[in-house]
Amino acid sequence: MRLDWQRRAVILFTTSLLILSVVLVFFAVREAEREKLLKEREIEGARQRLVETIDGRAKSLIGEAESRVLEAAKKGLKESLADLPLVSDVFLVDDKNQVVFLGPKPLFLLPGEKQRSREIARSLENDERWKRAEAAEFRLNDQSLAAALYQDLAAKPADPAQDALILNRLARCYTKLGQLEKALAAYRQQLQIGLSDLTSEGIPLEITALYQIGNVLLLRGRKAEAAGAFLELYQGLLDAKWALSRSQFESFGKLAEDRFQTAVGGLDASLRADWDGRLQDLKKTEAERLDKTGLLEKVRERIIPRMRLEARETDADSGRFLRIAEPMDSGLLLASFLPLDKNTMLGMLLDPEALARGLFPLSSGKPEPEEGFAVAIIDESGKVVVSQGLVSPEAPDKSGDSQRVFSGAFTDSFPPWAIDVYRSGIGAAERQFRLRRTIYVLSLAAVIAALFFGGFLAIRSTAKELKLAKLKSDFTATVSHEFRTPLTSIRYMAELLQRGRVRDEARKQQYYETITGESERLGRLVENLLDFSKIEAGMKEYRMEEVDIAALAADVAGRFRQQAAFKEFTLETEIASDLPFIRADKDALGRAVLNLLDNAVKYSGGNPRVTLRAWSGEDAVNLQVEDHGIGIGKPEQKKIFEKFYRSESALESDVKGSGIGLPLVEHVVRAHGGKVLLESEPGKGTRVTIRLPVKPPEEKKEGENG
Ligand code: ADP
Repeated sequence: MRLDWQRRAVILFTTSLLILSVVLVFFAVREAEREKLLKEREIEGARQRLVETIDGRAKSLIGEAESRVLEAAKKGLKESLADLPLVSDVFLVDDKNQVVFLGPKPLFLLPGEKQRSREIARSLENDERWKRAEAAEFRLNDQSLAAALYQDLAAKPADPAQDALILNRLARCYTKLGQLEKALAAYRQQLQIGLSDLTSEGIPLEITALYQIGNVLLLRGRKAEAAGAFLELYQGLLDAKWALSRSQFESFGKLAEDRFQTAVGGLDASLRADWDGRLQDLKKTEAERLDKTGLLEKVRERIIPRMRLEARETDADSGRFLRIAEPMDSGLLLASFLPLDKNTMLGMLLDPEALARGLFPLSSGKPEPEEGFAVAIIDESGKVVVSQGLVSPEAPDKSGDSQRVFSGAFTDSFPPWAIDVYRSGIGAAERQFRLRRTIYVLSLAAVIAALFFGGFLAIRSTAKELKLAKLKSDFTATVSHEFRTPLTSIRYMAELLQRGRVRDEARKQQYYETITGESERLGRLVENLLDFSKIEAGMKEYRMEEVDIAALAADVAGRFRQQAAFKEFTLETEIASDLPFIRADKDALGRAVLNLLDNAVKYSGGNPRVTLRAWSGEDAVNLQVEDHGIGIGKPEQKKIFEKFYRSESALESDVKGSGIGLPLVEHVVRAHGGKVLLESEPGKGTRVTIRLPVKPPEEKKEGENG
């Protein structure tokens, strides 16, 4: 009943604490979650700012380039813009949609571009002598006449263009006549006049001259010089010296190269390698120029029409640059232009790579509370243009655990790239949240464990207390009983003796012995009880003196025989003669041995043969009581030294006892620095040995004080 009440209280208390902690942890976790959200929002803001920083940098880089180009344009575009790596070309578009590039010219005429050359032959068409010379050359096939006539014409200098054409024809005739040196001289003279825009039948005269010089030199066997001439032609083509169509450019290039190879073919190996090297250099240049030409072609084709459109829509006087981005197979075209007036526009091409390079590294603007972040600029095809902090810059999404957490863009999609922010590992907010949650859950677990443990202890201790209370009440009952039995027999015998009913002397004597024995037993019981209560109160004191153990053993045996004379038993003693004196409390020790003898007889189980032994071992004196009684089972052997404990078999065999004898024995022996040894087997008997040290060095003092 009482136990139930206490246990219920403990359970109630524990449960309410438990619920309280669960609720607390629940709210704490929710709070942590809220904080995580706040932090995430903060980080999100920081990421946004990062994107803005990058965009701002792009804007300022482009703006700076634009104002520099405008400045240069105002001064006539004379100064070099080489220190502006961002600007790859500047161009002007006029009202006829003609584009003038400031950088290297296109290799050939771009679609829609007009021939910039003049057909000189036409201006001579009406000249009589010219007609005659041509007739001699072609119709009559009289080359010497033709040469003479051409020479005649050449003798009277007209305008340089006509001179150049006449020299060209003259050289041709000389070649046909086999007068090669003269031909060479004439071609060289023509080249000296220059005029790259002169054509005859659409072919620039200079090209004819260079080509023929090479051929004539080849005929003369001057191979190295011939190779030089063909290379010169090739170089001229690459310098865009002549206005050619694309197909012209290509076929002349091929021709020059073929002839060059023929010329070089006959040279020594060492010389040939040198010439080949020069050709390779030129070919490399050609590849670069072709790329560039392709780019310029795209500008003409796609950018300019868009520029026109946009320029029409915006106010020409705004002085604001307009920007156009055009993705192409070969890369991105970024153009910025300014309508100068109604029809003219100043434009420039921006190098996307240079722009990308200029964006990083970022010194500030790192999204603050976030560690392990990375930024990448991604182009429209998903390729990384430039990045900072990525583990594998080629494939940001595949690099380990980095994860795209934010994506922004440049203003007006110029350049049309995405600005992606990546996070490597889990974010700071998430990590903090997880840590907190773990701490809360662990502390909840600790609280639960503590509550369970505490509850268990509380319930166990109340159970123990109750058990003790029960033992105490049992104890009172048994003690009263133990008192009553001897008291009853004393009173009965005393009455008989008093009334003179007992006549037989021997009988009388027996009664007297019983009365003495019973009262001694009562005395011992009282003594035991007193000792026990003193020990319980921690007030037991021992009076130590030099004690002859042999004498003590013999005395105890004698007293026991006398006290228990009315019981049936045999007590044998085996007391060694060489026992030393030891310091001990004679009375306490004697009572301990008496208790053991008492038990031996009480639990003799019908075989009351008891032996008391005393002998000395190594540094110790042993006092042993052996019986052949009911014995004690292994599981109970420890418990019988607990106060009030009585073994099952003792209770069954209805032997009276209080359960304080053995605890007392143990206390006394401990106070003497010794120990109690128990050997017992149920049904066979018990052997209890008190082992006392001969010289207890420290325990002596403790013993004296109790
Ligand atoms: P009591 O004898 O008054 O019950 P003790 O403290 O002397 O109390 O003994 C405790 C218990 O130990 C006894 O109840 C008994 O069960 C067991 N016991 C003690 N001595 C013996 C013995 N010699 N043989 C068998 N059991 C014993």
